[in-house]
Amino acid sequence: MDIKFLGMGSAFNPKMENTNGFFVWEDQFYLIDCGETAFGKLWNHPALRAASRITAAITHLHGDHAGSLASLVSYCYYVLGKTIRVLHPLDTVIRLLDIMGIERSCYEYVPRLVGEALSFDAVEVEHVDNMTCFGYIISGPEGKIYYSGDAKYVPDPVIRGFLNGEIGRIYQDAALKPGDHATHGSLAYLEKTFPPETHSRIYCIHLDTDYRQILMEKGFALAALYEPDGP
Ligand SMILES: [Zn+2]
Repeated sequence: MDIKFLGMGSAFNPKMENTNGFFVWEDQFYLIDCGETAFGKLWNHPALRAASRITAAITHLHGDHAGSLASLVSYCYYVLGKTIRVLHPLDTVIRLLDIMGIERSCYEYVPRLVGEALSFDAVEVEHVDNMTCFGYIISGPEGKIYYSGDAKYVPDPVIRGFLNGEIGRIYQDAALKPGDHATHGSLAYLEKTFPPETHSRIYCIHLDTDYRQILMEKGFALAALYEPDGP
């Protein structure tokens, strides 16, 4: 589960593009969120085109997390001939795709993904008051990781699992400058919550500004960016 990122920015940091992750496992393609900028970077990805199955796990429905999901679903169906799975605990994602004109026969909706070699356990997180949002604990033969989506805090069971080593890595929404009415995690929160020796297992994502240099200096892990035109 070597997660790469199509972008690493927050919604209002379009320069760094949307924080949407993906990984390839065996011959399957797993996407975590599909924001406004995702489809433009993803559509011609060799692993996406070659995958035996594509799963898009959606944490919540804000535009920078689900804004180009409709394009991805219809492209996969009509161009690649693949019916992708859309994972989200709530069927609100079906309503979103309905409104965007995507027929339900073009994708498979799955509210949970367990019982396979890789499982995604949804964990409810605090983000905004008008929408239920989730993170995922992703488990597989290589262990467990936690992916926050947008979230003010890391849920307590995840903190415990991370500190006792059961969860190997955390990918957490972390702003450098939290607003007055914070809806996101922050670097200060992570430093307060996790001891320095664990920082190398914490990947800060959804960055409000490009503060990767600071993250490096403080010993946090740096998420890997995918460049479509790269080697
Ligand atoms: Zn959000």
